[in-house]
Amino acid sequence: MADDSGVGRRPSPGASVGAGALLQLLRDGVPRTRSELSALTGLARSTVTGRVDALLAAGLIAPSGETASTGGRPPATFAFNPAARIVLGADLGATHARLAVIDLAGNVLAVANADLDIALGPKAVLDWTIDRGRKLLDQVGRPAADLLGVGIGLPGPVEHSTGRAVNPPIMPGWDGFDVPGYVRERIPVPVMCDNDVNIMALGEHFTAWPEYEHLLFIKAATGIGCGIIADGKVYRGAQGAAGDMGHIRVAHADDVHCRCGNTGCLEAVASGGAIAAKLTEQGIPAGGSLDVVELARSGSVPALRLVRQAGRDIGEVLAGAVNFFNPSIIVIGGSLALAGDHLIAGVREVIYQRSLPLATRHLRIAAARTGESSGAIGAGVMVIEHALDPDRLDSASFGAELKNG
Ligand SMILES: [Zn+2]
Repeated sequence: MADDSGVGRRPSPGASVGAGALLQLLRDGVPRTRSELSALTGLARSTVTGRVDALLAAGLIAPSGETASTGGRPPATFAFNPAARIVLGADLGATHARLAVIDLAGNVLAVANADLDIALGPKAVLDWTIDRGRKLLDQVGRPAADLLGVGIGLPGPVEHSTGRAVNPPIMPGWDGFDVPGYVRERIPVPVMCDNDVNIMALGEHFTAWPEYEHLLFIKAATGIGCGIIADGKVYRGAQGAAGDMGHIRVAHADDVHCRCGNTGCLEAVASGGAIAAKLTEQGIPAGGSLDVVELARSGSVPALRLVRQAGRDIGEVLAGAVNFFNPSIIVIGGSLALAGDHLIAGVREVIYQRSLPLATRHLRIAAARTGESSGAIGAGVMVIEHALDPDRLDSASFGAELKNG
């Protein structure tokens, strides 16, 4: 939240600037006086005062001292109060779970990791998440009333509006399960759910790249997926399947069969499992993404070559996406990205060669920065963005939802 200008968050001047929009402006963390807020929003001073009072009452902003002034009493300044509430984020992977408690600015207050098999089914996995989550909340010493909500990421397709998993291939027992309902019965706060790639994209964007409005986050691991941030928000598409790039065809791979029934899918040639299988064929035993990463890091030339080629294959699919979507940044993450620069070098090589100059002129291609907590942080950010959405805050009776904890 280092942006000091409010650019991209600044509401257009006019009467539609409610308390929610004012809060959105202040979320950059910069303290401002009532006059500055009035000048930035075009609102009358008296209107700004009313909005500021409402935000103060909800605890979402706080007085932040006084500014220097030429004589007389210096005007008071107000700033976003990220400590006002906390959020619990859970990133439930295929075999591993990560939890994080964050404040409203995404600062991590506590984390927990555990090996946890998603195939144990929804009740066992969610019971663990609830139990461990409660302990984490105790650990940060905040009362239950401070919890704004719970965000959960799952390793498969999720219908975001209902939070239910939809035909998830690696999650027996989860199909159609009411995840938010189950959790809300035990922790009575708003609960939201999305797939793991979307929450990782959100975590990366919020934490490391907030100045980029159009971001593609690539998770290259056992599968290959893409989270899309468009105009600063997660783009999910009509059925929540946007960014599912693992089954887009790669030109040179027509003879490779994919588990989905098609041939030549990106995931069948460039995923951690696909690379591990090729290495094993060449007499270098490898079981999956993490073995590939270990081999590449230890300097195995066949592993490095295959990782680089996987980068090129991912780049081939992305080159079309770059022409189509015109992102400002592509962030490469997931366990395969831990293999070093070779994956990203392959991606860059093909994208700059194949995409249109106008689309690549200012395009940045970078490695993920947020690390293994990006999903848990992003799950929490999903709840924050929803709760603090200006339109929502201004349409609902303001602050009611935020106060009743
Ligand atoms: Zn496929």
